[in-house]
Amino acid sequence: MHDLLLRGGSVHDGTGAPAVTADVAVAGDRIVAVGRDLGPARRVVDVDGLAVAPGFVDAHTHSDLVALTGRPEGAKLRQGVTTEVVGNCGVSFAPLDEAAAGHLTGIYGDLTCGLPIGPRTFAGYLAEVEAARPTTNVVALVGHAALRTTANGMAEALAPGALDRMCALLAESLDAGAAGLSSGLVYPPGSHAAPEEMTALAAVAQRYGRIYATHLRDEGDRLPEALDEAIAVAEASGVRLQVSHCKVTGRRNHGRAPDLLARLHAARRAGIDVAGDAYPYTSGATVMVALLPPSATAGGADRLVQLLGDPRERERLRAAADHGQGLWRAADPGGVRLMRHKDPGVCGRTLAEVGADPWTTLCELVAADPGATVLLEAMDLTDVLTILADPLIGIGSDGTPSAGAGHPRNRGCFPELFATVVRTHGALDLPTAVHKATAANADRFGLAGRGRLGAGAVADVCVFDPARVAHPDPLGEPAGFLHVLVAGVPAVEDGRVTGARAGRVLRA
Ligand SMILES: [Zn+2]
Repeated sequence: MHDLLLRGGSVHDGTGAPAVTADVAVAGDRIVAVGRDLGPARRVVDVDGLAVAPGFVDAHTHSDLVALTGRPEGAKLRQGVTTEVVGNCGVSFAPLDEAAAGHLTGIYGDLTCGLPIGPRTFAGYLAEVEAARPTTNVVALVGHAALRTTANGMAEALAPGALDRMCALLAESLDAGAAGLSSGLVYPPGSHAAPEEMTALAAVAQRYGRIYATHLRDEGDRLPEALDEAIAVAEASGVRLQVSHCKVTGRRNHGRAPDLLARLHAARRAGIDVAGDAYPYTSGATVMVALLPPSATAGGADRLVQLLGDPRERERLRAAADHGQGLWRAADPGGVRLMRHKDPGVCGRTLAEVGADPWTTLCELVAADPGATVLLEAMDLTDVLTILADPLIGIGSDGTPSAGAGHPRNRGCFPELFATVVRTHGALDLPTAVHKATAANADRFGLAGRGRLGAGAVADVCVFDPARVAHPDPLGEPAGFLHVLVAGVPAVEDGRVTGARAGRVLRA
């Protein structure tokens, strides 16, 4: 007697093969059979006309601390996600010492879910998440910013011995089960890291057979050089490389997606194990300080506020920004929209709308709230679709669980994939889109037994209506996702979150 039978659905196995009409039998936390006439079950759910897929694996999120809030929001479950890779873009909240916890909170406070951040080891972090009983499975990367800030503070130059200390902290975290290393080379302190520093750390990840995921140093004018840098790090260290949220930003770079993809494919032909992830939106989102030259944040948040209060310093920084330091040059002031800021009056407005001189406005807004976040309208739809369609690219939302207004990708990435990319634009067929959201990512991050729907796999399952999935309201819930199982436990039933917290920490 099975525990559950999903009867008569259109079953996608996650490999990209065409769907087949079949029943799916679940017993305990496993799928025991896929086929016809599978025998009796305690519970039968008729899923005729619906797609039955492996639970989605979100390759790139910032949900690191969601479980620790004690009030999991279900934003990911509601779109079929059963596993999240956290700790991306160089930011993880372990391992940290007291001072590093303060520095990171000053700039990346938006990612803390309002929780106080203190010193912790990576093993301690994973144990806390486990004890908090997450709603989705958690795969955790070690952020370079955590390593560097703990070993070296916010200084640009590495002190003697700091790199050895970073490598030791990384090894300790990988021993604890971290899935790999991440970097955010556009954000402080990642922006201070030379390629040699990243190569030394990537070599540690490689020794453990783990992945290195990087937010490139530049996704706009100098994207080719930034990508070549990451590939050179992979070549020198032998590490498996994941290029995070692949995109081409800045109006003058629109149309350059084929060049990005050609570089990835050339690297693979040269024997480098590289792939990437992307999200289906033409806008990105980030911390507002990323628009400033990285040197501005080298002294920490207090020093930054001091600098921005000095008109001469502001001019010096503007000159550096105009030369391409920071994201300023890739941004159009009319396309930079405030998401979170201490002054609620500016939220939802663009830099161009808030003040007459965009640079001065930017400096004043950052000085008033160094943790402010913005939405950046910076990509071209054709580029986004071209990248998503490439076989090397999996799906990663880059979602941030901000309270209130945030980028819609946190709640809407996967419905947007099926509604816009598959249905509206036809840029992917359904089995391929499912593959990019499941097995492609599970394989990339070494998640055995996940991402495929077949006998013996863990029963992480998503049942959705491909004709109806949508995310009409950016702050609201998606439609069309009806049932989600996490390790056989119903986490969404008839479109409603059940409150089950069956997620596990998936240690490497
Ligand atoms: Zn990033």
